Amino acid sequence: MTTLDTSSTGPRPGRLTAHDARQRLEHARSSRLAQLRALGETGQSSPDPLMSAQAEAIGRVLKEIDEAFGRIDDGSYGDCLGCVKPVPAERLEILPYTRYCVTCQRRAAV
Ligand SMILES: [Zn+2]
Repeated sequence: MTTLDTSSTGPRPGRLTAHDARQRLEHARSSRLAQLRALGETGQSSPDPLMSAQAEAIGRVLKEIDEAFGRIDDGSYGDCLGCVKPVPAERLEILPYTRYCVTCQRRAAV
Protein backbone atom coordinates (compact mmCIF):
# COMPACT_ATOMS: atom_id res chain seq x y z
CA MET A 1 0.00 0.00 0.00
CA THR A 2 1.34 3.38 -0.96
CA THR A 3 0.00 6.53 0.57
CA LEU A 4 1.45 9.86 -0.32
CA ASP A 5 0.40 11.97 2.58
CA THR A 6 1.97 15.33 1.86
CA SER A 7 0.92 16.76 5.20
CA SER A 8 3.35 14.49 7.03
CA THR A 9 6.33 15.57 4.95
CA GLY A 10 6.03 19.23 5.92
CA PRO A 11 8.65 20.92 8.05
CA ARG A 12 8.81 19.64 11.59
CA PRO A 13 9.31 22.22 14.29
CA GLY A 14 12.80 22.40 15.70
CA ARG A 15 14.33 20.35 12.93
CA LEU A 16 15.60 21.21 9.47
CA THR A 17 14.17 19.27 6.56
CA ALA A 18 16.66 17.47 4.33
CA HIS A 19 15.79 19.97 1.62
CA ASP A 20 16.54 22.95 3.88
CA ALA A 21 19.73 21.34 5.14
CA ARG A 22 20.94 20.72 1.60
CA GLN A 23 20.23 24.30 0.61
CA ARG A 24 22.10 25.65 3.61
CA LEU A 25 25.03 23.34 2.96
CA GLU A 26 25.14 24.33 -0.72
CA HIS A 27 25.16 27.95 0.33
CA ALA A 28 27.89 27.39 2.92
CA ARG A 29 29.96 25.51 0.34
CA SER A 30 29.68 28.14 -2.38
CA SER A 31 30.56 30.96 0.00
CA ARG A 32 33.62 29.01 1.23
CA LEU A 33 34.68 28.32 -2.35
CA ALA A 34 34.32 32.03 -3.12
CA GLN A 35 36.51 32.82 -0.10
CA LEU A 36 39.14 30.37 -1.35
CA ARG A 37 39.08 31.95 -4.79
CA ALA A 38 39.42 35.42 -3.27
CA LEU A 39 42.41 34.23 -1.24
CA GLY A 40 44.07 32.92 -4.39
CA GLU A 41 43.42 36.11 -6.33
CA THR A 42 45.29 38.52 -4.11
CA GLY A 43 48.35 38.19 -6.34
CA GLN A 44 50.87 38.30 -3.54
CA SER A 45 54.37 37.26 -4.57
CA SER A 46 55.37 35.80 -1.21
CA PRO A 47 53.12 33.31 0.56
CA ASP A 48 51.33 34.87 3.50
CA PRO A 49 51.26 32.46 6.47
CA LEU A 50 48.02 34.00 7.73
CA MET A 51 46.45 33.47 4.35
CA SER A 52 47.52 29.86 3.99
CA ALA A 53 46.21 29.17 7.49
CA GLN A 54 42.94 30.71 6.40
CA ALA A 55 42.85 28.61 3.24
CA GLU A 56 43.53 25.52 5.33
CA ALA A 57 40.67 26.36 7.70
CA ILE A 58 38.32 26.86 4.75
CA GLY A 59 39.43 23.52 3.31
CA ARG A 60 38.58 21.81 6.61
CA VAL A 61 35.10 23.35 6.58
CA LEU A 62 34.58 22.21 2.98
CA LYS A 63 35.41 18.68 4.06
CA GLU A 64 32.92 18.91 6.91
CA ILE A 65 30.29 20.20 4.50
CA ASP A 66 30.87 17.16 2.26
CA GLU A 67 30.52 14.85 5.24
CA ALA A 68 27.31 16.62 6.23
CA PHE A 69 25.87 15.90 2.77
CA GLY A 70 26.66 12.24 3.37
CA ARG A 71 24.82 12.36 6.69
CA ILE A 72 21.71 13.76 4.98
CA ASP A 73 21.83 10.72 2.68
CA ASP A 74 22.17 8.20 5.48
CA GLY A 75 19.63 9.96 7.68
CA SER A 76 21.91 10.85 10.57
CA TYR A 77 22.09 14.54 9.70
CA GLY A 78 21.15 16.88 12.54
CA ASP A 79 21.84 14.38 15.31
CA CYS A 80 24.56 15.30 17.76
CA LEU A 81 27.44 12.81 17.73
CA GLY A 82 27.99 13.40 21.43
CA CYS A 83 24.58 13.02 23.02
CA VAL A 84 22.60 11.65 20.02
CA LYS A 85 19.98 14.34 20.55
CA PRO A 86 18.91 16.50 17.60
CA VAL A 87 21.06 19.59 17.17
CA PRO A 88 18.73 22.61 17.49
CA ALA A 89 17.59 23.95 14.11
CA GLU A 90 18.75 27.48 14.93
CA ARG A 91 22.28 26.16 15.41
CA LEU A 92 22.13 24.24 12.12
CA GLU A 93 21.01 27.43 10.39
CA ILE A 94 24.24 29.11 11.43
CA LEU A 95 26.50 26.04 11.22
CA PRO A 96 24.76 23.61 8.85
CA TYR A 97 27.74 21.22 8.86
CA THR A 98 28.16 20.94 12.61
CA ARG A 99 28.10 17.48 14.18
CA TYR A 100 27.63 18.58 17.76
CA CYS A 101 25.18 20.54 19.86
CA VAL A 102 26.56 23.52 21.75
CA THR A 103 27.13 21.53 24.94
CA CYS A 104 29.03 18.68 23.28
CA GLN A 105 30.99 21.06 21.05
CA ARG A 106 32.17 22.90 24.14
CA ARG A 107 33.08 19.62 25.77
CA ALA A 108 34.96 18.44 22.64
CA ALA A 109 36.90 21.69 22.44
CA VAL A 110 38.41 21.32 25.90
ZN1 LIG B 1 25.26 16.90 22.13
